Amino acid sequence: MINLFIRKYFIQGIVQGVGFRPFIYHLAIENNLNGWVLNNTEGVTLEIEGTKKDLDQFAKSIISEKPELAVIENINLMGESKSKGKYIQFNIIESKETNIKDALISPDTNVCNNCLNELFDQNNRRYKYPFINCTNCGPRYSIILDLPYDRPNTTMSKFPMCSQCNLEYKDVENRRFHAQPISCWSCGPKILLYDNKGVYVDTDDPIKEVIKQLKDGFIVAVKGIGGYHLMVDPTNSEAVTQLRSRKKRKEKPFALLSESIEQVKTYASLSSEEERLLCSIARPIVIVQKKHNTFSANVATNNCTFGVMLAYTPIQYLLLHGNFTALICTSANISDDAIIYTNDEATKKLTKIADYILIHNRVIQTRLDDSIVKIMDSDKKKPVTFRRARGYIPFPHKFEHPLPSGLALGSELKNTICLNKNNNYFISQHIGDLKNLSIYASFCEIVSSFQKLLAIEPQFIACDLHPNFFNTKFAYQQTKLPVFPIQHHHAHMASCMLENSLKNPVIGVIFDGVGYGTDKSLWGGEFLVGDYLQCERKAHFKQFKLLGGDKAVKEPYRIAFELLYSIYGDKTLDLPLDFIIQYREQLVVLQKMSNKNINSPVTSSVGRIFDGVAAILGLRSVVEYEGQAAIQLEQIATDNFDPLTYVLNNNNDVLEIDFLSAIKELAEYKLKNVSNSKLSMSFHLMLANIVRDVCNEIRSKTFIREVVLSGGVFQNELLLKTCNKVLAENNFKVYSHSTIPPNDGGISAGQAVIAAHQFVYKFGINN
Ligand code: ZN
Ligand code: ZN
Ligand code: FE
Repeated sequence: MINLFIRKYFIQGIVQGVGFRPFIYHLAIENNLNGWVLNNTEGVTLEIEGTKKDLDQFAKSIISEKPELAVIENINLMGESKSKGKYIQFNIIESKETNIKDALISPDTNVCNNCLNELFDQNNRRYKYPFINCTNCGPRYSIILDLPYDRPNTTMSKFPMCSQCNLEYKDVENRRFHAQPISCWSCGPKILLYDNKGVYVDTDDPIKEVIKQLKDGFIVAVKGIGGYHLMVDPTNSEAVTQLRSRKKRKEKPFALLSESIEQVKTYASLSSEEERLLCSIARPIVIVQKKHNTFSANVATNNCTFGVMLAYTPIQYLLLHGNFTALICTSANISDDAIIYTNDEATKKLTKIADYILIHNRVIQTRLDDSIVKIMDSDKKKPVTFRRARGYIPFPHKFEHPLPSGLALGSELKNTICLNKNNNYFISQHIGDLKNLSIYASFCEIVSSFQKLLAIEPQFIACDLHPNFFNTKFAYQQTKLPVFPIQHHHAHMASCMLENSLKNPVIGVIFDGVGYGTDKSLWGGEFLVGDYLQCERKAHFKQFKLLGGDKAVKEPYRIAFELLYSIYGDKTLDLPLDFIIQYREQLVVLQKMSNKNINSPVTSSVGRIFDGVAAILGLRSVVEYEGQAAIQLEQIATDNFDPLTYVLNNNNDVLEIDFLSAIKELAEYKLKNVSNSKLSMSFHLMLANIVRDVCNEIRSKTFIREVVLSGGVFQNELLLKTCNKVLAENNFKVYSHSTIPPNDGGISAGQAVIAAHQFVYKFGINN
């Protein structure tokens, strides 16, 4: 007689909507096992019966052979018992709903190769079908309304399957078995074309029509996975200019979309790592080096990089098949508003920008921008996420032990929110600048929908220390929960610690735009020492005035003037620097502002020092978007030169980094016609020296040798690379960002993990 055993497993992770049950089914059959598997709101449960040998082999293969999109976090063996043959076959049984909703939702993915082959196969019944997908690919997070991930809980619920699709859906041998968004020409969503007057364009083949319009230089809005894009032929400079003027976007680079990596290689140089990232199923926009200008120069002006992504929806493939090396593919929004994702808004608002609109009737439940990633660091191997959205959300980050659940509302710019539960930290998609009303509305909506979808009931709220942020005010309106205001740069530091699973106190080098400090001034060039609970400011850049407050962000010449004015006084106006000649009249006004301290908050922001330096060098006096001047400054630094000098002052054990001597040297070199390339390098090298020296000072007192680099300024590859190098040479252990953005997109995660620790400290773990 054969000895049979029954084992029961409970598996957690991304195991729903990714072909996990059919995988288990086939694996069980292969190993001669009987029993069942089912989805519930917490994960996948299965019971299998067979010999010990077969059961062991099965357990091994779950991990080694799992489906591509599946992410297994835990396999729990719930029990094992002897049996006498309880089952006679293996079955997939109906989903079960429990009160606990812990199953992870899969992010949206690109259309897979099997589906692509069918898409372009004339004999396939889904030939050129714009919504082709399967168990291994397609929309997920963007169409889910609730858990478990089943068709009735997605925006596909209103498309009843035809008999053929239904057969495929139910056939465990079919690669569309339980593919929730399954559909075909006869039962699925439809694409429709409209012109900019809202008139339906009557055509049998909208795709062919759009290809022709793009070739003719028209701007076409196309519905994607997380929202609408605006598409234009990048070789047509008139069309690109038209798009810029209608979108009121003068210089900010447009992203490019191509069908294949070979096409991308014709206009950009790619490292193997960049190639891998471009081809990854998340399909982010990857920032890569321009090769030569195949395209109109105004696709990305004053910038030696392109933002590129590979096609990820069937519609994109069909359009690019119309013989385009690339198409401009930029988020469809009105100036700085949220990306448009409903058909209603698209047909109302996008008509001002697009000549035609290609809509479809599969509803986007959750709006998502494209993610942006750059490969950085000395070995050009580390992906650094600048914007985390489609393809990555809602995959969580892990903390080493569970903490009470909370809701963190993030920063006001580049806003994201974060919810934590057990040891998972779920950062939301990029939401945007909350000062914009439409984005604030979207923030409010995401706060409630994200909580509902993840089934998290927060016990506390975390927000920024800045009392006037919209989200801070929102936090204090939620009167039922305790609010934990978190200092901005402490949050940056903790986000980097969380991402790198650090446990002990660290030195946090936070170079940033501006953030509200505990002394109520604007910080942004900080050396902190601390952990997840608290931190102390050990050093900072010498503060300077932001003449005109927020205006100085858009007009860096204001910063350049203030820095020089504090060195040269009234003689500043006689310096023959470009910006001084150009803005003389305004500078006279600024001079008074500075003298009388009118609307001139002080800051220690390194981001703003970058802006000021760019203006002194004559690179840029005004900017269209934050960071633009700094990007240009970084890109020209190619020649080596001696670092600029600075002074460290000790004020009651807090070090002050006085960089005005560097500004003076910079102006003098510039007047002697030393090249910008050298001067930019000397500025970057000085910053790395400051990081080295200050960290050494701090280590001599605290014995801490773990350093985290965070804040928006660390999107600068040259700076990150040089800081990493000098710190490593000085025996520090250095950590920086990869999957959590170094910019304010990471703030919510930092706030969540700090507030959870403060909550426990204040109320105890069992509250
Ligand atoms: Zn597929
Ligand atoms: Zn069908
Ligand atoms: Fe910040």
